[in-house]
Amino acid sequence: MGDSATPVLNPIPAEKLSVEIQPLFQPDLKKLSSVLENGLKKTFEEASVSVQPCPDLTLAPFHLAAPGLCGNSKILDVGGCPYLFPLAQRNKFYDMRDFPKLVKAAEDSPQLMIGAGAAPWTFLSRNAEMMTNILLDHQGQVLKQKTKIARTFDGNNEYEVIDLPETEHKMSILSNLLMSEGRSGPVLEIKCKKRIGPDNFVTALRKVLVENYPEDSIGLGGTFVVQSGKVKIHIMPELSSCPLTTDAEVEGWLKFFEINAPFTCLSVLVSNDPGLDLRVEHSHGFNERGDGGHYHYDTTPEETEYLAYYTVAQQVCRIDRPVESHQIGRD
Ligand code: ZN
Repeated sequence: MGDSATPVLNPIPAEKLSVEIQPLFQPDLKKLSSVLENGLKKTFEEASVSVQPCPDLTLAPFHLAAPGLCGNSKILDVGGCPYLFPLAQRNKFYDMRDFPKLVKAAEDSPQLMIGAGAAPWTFLSRNAEMMTNILLDHQGQVLKQKTKIARTFDGNNEYEVIDLPETEHKMSILSNLLMSEGRSGPVLEIKCKKRIGPDNFVTALRKVLVENYPEDSIGLGGTFVVQSGKVKIHIMPELSSCPLTTDAEVEGWLKFFEINAPFTCLSVLVSNDPGLDLRVEHSHGFNERGDGGHYHYDTTPEETEYLAYYTVAQQVCRIDRPVESHQIGRD
């Protein structure tokens, strides 16, 4: 990694990237917390949602690059599945240091970006999952790098999670991110226990929003920890050299694992797509035992327990939206 064998590829220049910015609906937090609490009780035997001052999320088990989720928060949807399927487009390569300026983030504050995406493939000369967790200033300087990537070893079905160095701030193909000033402030604290419904935690949250605010687009971004039980995850292996044209082919390509809690996820969701061809939910996670990857769902509903902190985003920013749209691989 990082040696002379690293392929040379420059990220797409910021001025060549399309950017569409739309406001999101921001319900009153107190009202929203009671709507979520009632709705989540369809999926979990116990659910409580309240408005709390954001705890210091730099601490375990969250390990964010900034203490809070608040301050001009935005959902960023970069690239997309059409750049991954049927065949990966390696030239869809971005420098995350460009994003604060691109989405007109405040110049006088650092910006935290957390979420789920594809690792910069030049880093290992191959594809990997990325748990993005980085604090940047407006000039593009990396102030704190806590991003991890998860890569597979396809010969023996193992994987490894690697901390990205401060010098690596790029990404490939797609990402779903929360950008905020990383400040403390009021956030939603969500506690759920014992799953009794079919949906995963994030889908359950999103469906409550869709049901209760059918005309609005609400974006949530934050972090949750699966505190007990087991979790099904996937890690993308090396990019496929054969075209993947169906969900079944994508499933055959992905590497699935069942891991033990705790598992801390970086998570974004948008309730209703306001016409930007968004991926409406995406969460990647990690833990201190060296697991990492894409969160699917807990596999032990009886034992499962979640603790989450989310902020309500003010805007959604669509960067380099693919011209072509399809649903392959979005789950
Ligand atoms: Zn993913």
